[in-house]
Amino acid sequence: MTSTWHERLNPLVRNLPPSGIRRFFDLVAETKGVISLGVGEPDFVTPWHIREACIYSLEKGYTMYTSNSGLLELRQAIARHLAETYGLFYDPKKEILVTVGVSQGLDLAVRALVGPGDEVLVPEPSYVSYAPVVTLAGGRVVPLPTTVEEEFRLSPQQVEAAITPRTKVLILSYPNNPTGAVMDRRRLLEICEVVKAHDLLVISDEIYDKLTYEGEHTCVASLPGMKERTVLLNGFSKSYAMTGWRIGFACSNAEFIAAMTRIHQYTMLCAPITAQMAALEALRNGHAAMERMVREYNRRRLLVVQAFRDMGLACFEPKGAFYAFPEIRATGLSSEAFAEALLYEEKVAVVPGNAFGASGEGFVRCSYAASTDDLIEALRRIARMVRRRGVRPRVISAFLSPARSAAG
Ligand code: PLP
Repeated sequence: MTSTWHERLNPLVRNLPPSGIRRFFDLVAETKGVISLGVGEPDFVTPWHIREACIYSLEKGYTMYTSNSGLLELRQAIARHLAETYGLFYDPKKEILVTVGVSQGLDLAVRALVGPGDEVLVPEPSYVSYAPVVTLAGGRVVPLPTTVEEEFRLSPQQVEAAITPRTKVLILSYPNNPTGAVMDRRRLLEICEVVKAHDLLVISDEIYDKLTYEGEHTCVASLPGMKERTVLLNGFSKSYAMTGWRIGFACSNAEFIAAMTRIHQYTMLCAPITAQMAALEALRNGHAAMERMVREYNRRRLLVVQAFRDMGLACFEPKGAFYAFPEIRATGLSSEAFAEALLYEEKVAVVPGNAFGASGEGFVRCSYAASTDDLIEALRRIARMVRRRGVRPRVISAFLSPARSAAG
């Protein structure tokens, strides 16, 4: 008797639930005329000078493997950038690894650290990859739910209370996907005191650091005593509108970066050279274009939060990333039922909050990395659907009032 493919699967993979986001996008793909506020990616095309640098590199014949660690010039530019921005000094030869997006950096860091039974603390709601990557490494995810009342910030007491003799790593991710929450320096310092007292390590995913709209982003590794116990992950996808290029980087202790590089050299070899060339151009000359995009996201952020509040939904003010996380409980629907009703009735796609962990129930994630026209039309449709569920608008603002038909 032959086994089925399902039976043959590694049990860790067999039991891995599909991403709540993907399931939803399959539904979106089947529906015509949808405005999507679902995907977490910039609506901007990569700035032209970055694309041009890539084309030029191809013309010059840069088509081969790079060193496993990535182009030294790119690592030097990353080191310079971190020194200038955060006063953090990493040795580009030993302490920086160029990865295929933050996604690969995360996977490498977790696989190099986490073994069977090790516990990893993951604040929730959180980016959808953290828990599966830990599970695939054989580790155990310990969710730390955060609440809107606490502005979706983790507390040092929560971290302290979750620690057991098996706890090894705390994942931090601010500005946060999906809530847009940021962490103030004081609270981060308190959390880091707990981390140090219990000899834990931190994997800090700071992919949205440039997308901070109020105050300054605090890089975890720049806090006292934290550089030696932090794996800093960052990349080019969000801040330079380069999601498709797949370039990220990991910075940490030389021995640890060497361990991550060992996994990388056997499984990936290196990140694509053309994309590394483009990333180098982004770091050298991409600042002005990035700032223009950030100003535009900020304008949309204010518009979206105001619109949700005007239509009668409570909406936490996101201070970073490009997501709004309005509370939809007033409609009487669960997150999934809300997202499905919105898709079927008004052809707008958002992501149910519970796709980011149980504490996301009662919320939906709306990306505002969409054109202003699409955002305004989507908000009109959401307002109409919310009103049909009996939620009274707080303000009938000019752009929420017109009664256009669903499919527009
Ligand atoms: N980390 C967070 C918090 C994200 O939101 C995303 C993408 O949405 C990623 C990592 C993946 O980034 P990359 O494109 O660099 O792999």
